[in-house]
Amino acid sequence: MEKIVSLCKRRGFVFPSSEIYGGIGGFWDFGPLGVLMKNNIKRLWWKAIVEERENIFGLDTTVIHHPKVWEASGHLASFTDPLRECKSCHKRFRADKLTGENCPECGGELTEVKQFNLMFETYVGPAKQTANKAYLRPETCQGIFINFANVVDCMRPKLPFGIAQIGKGFRNEITTGDFIFRDREFEMMELEFFVRPGEDEKWHDYWIKERLKWHQKMGIKKENLRLFEHPKESLAHYSKRTVDIEYKFPFGWAELEGIANRTDFDLKNHSKFSGKDLSFQDENGEKFYPFVIEPSLGVERMMLALLLDAYREEKNNKVTRVILSLNPKVSPIKVAVFPLLANKPDLVKLARRIYEDLREDFMVAWDDRGNIGKRYFSQDEIGTPWCVTVDFQSLKDNTVTVRDRDTTKQERMRIDKLKEFFENKLK
Ligand code: ATP
Repeated sequence: MEKIVSLCKRRGFVFPSSEIYGGIGGFWDFGPLGVLMKNNIKRLWWKAIVEERENIFGLDTTVIHHPKVWEASGHLASFTDPLRECKSCHKRFRADKLTGENCPECGGELTEVKQFNLMFETYVGPAKQTANKAYLRPETCQGIFINFANVVDCMRPKLPFGIAQIGKGFRNEITTGDFIFRDREFEMMELEFFVRPGEDEKWHDYWIKERLKWHQKMGIKKENLRLFEHPKESLAHYSKRTVDIEYKFPFGWAELEGIANRTDFDLKNHSKFSGKDLSFQDENGEKFYPFVIEPSLGVERMMLALLLDAYREEKNNKVTRVILSLNPKVSPIKVAVFPLLANKPDLVKLARRIYEDLREDFMVAWDDRGNIGKRYFSQDEIGTPWCVTVDFQSLKDNTVTVRDRDTTKQERMRIDKLKEFFENKLK
């Protein structure tokens, strides 16, 4: 984990937020490479969930909703974690994560367990009064439930169908840590898949399998993934059954994605609280509240799992090569282009032309510093799958070398075949 944290800082993946002021716990900024990787993750999720499926629609709702939403959803009453405070050092801990009866920091006596609501509060409008109190959403799905009728009216879907959203979520977590694993501000990728009551268990199983397959397709090793069945007593207030996809993080197995059967809890409650009928009428005129299956995944947590899973070191003659063996679709940079020697104008000119040309279709990096070996090492460390080098032979026969990150093998290729080659690889 330490190596990943330092690589992320050094190479521009992740910076502590507000670092020049000492940082702020649970908030992270994403650097030039981090934002590319995050965008890739989001795009691949969106493609697999929305674009490749006929019956799933996208949505983009606000972070702040009418405060009644959180009353109806049960979050005002139940979106809490158990909290205990140390009577001596006043540090606060999540009671369900404590092992002993005393403060893990100073050994002091702890208070009784209190329920702490994780929602961030704010005020809408110029008056800071209770009537204007609102909340930053702790999950994106409520925006989906409150737009259920809008989507049904305009898309006229048949069951089963889904509505998906990617967006920021905020949780005032009692304790943060483990780098970007648990943040107070993060992005979520959520699907609400509406099904006929009675068919919910079948669809729940379907989505567990689908999501597990997707994580492997993204490049995560099978042996580092497992399913965890939530015991009945630890289920969220809306859930009939929840299964987590867990990843083997360096600190132990932990939730990567949660897949919940939320029943008809949310649609029913929003109907009750808003007075608007959010039931669904099927093709036979039958009216009912659909059940909903929800796969929910954090972008940052996915990024951390991908980085940890891809990280490896190779020792050769006392030199350590660090490689991020990321799925090329996830890699921030797809291709790096180098002139063999930076002081040969002909080489630089041709390499620049290739670089400009490839940039139209891929995220490409340019590097003419140091020697070729160093440039390869530098790209391996950030997971760039291919490096193109322009050498003296290139000037004669219009070929370049393409070097593969994982095998380190180089093959000569015609310049006019490069685009097609990378396109096929990235398909
Ligand atoms: P935990 O029990 O670890 O607090 P949770 O069960 O409350 O998590 P969910 O409500 O299931 O988490 O959230 C869905 C997904 O959103 C999680 O699987 C995770 O990927 C992501 N997520 C949740 N909370 C955080 C957070 N504080 N920071 C980063 N990602 C988060």
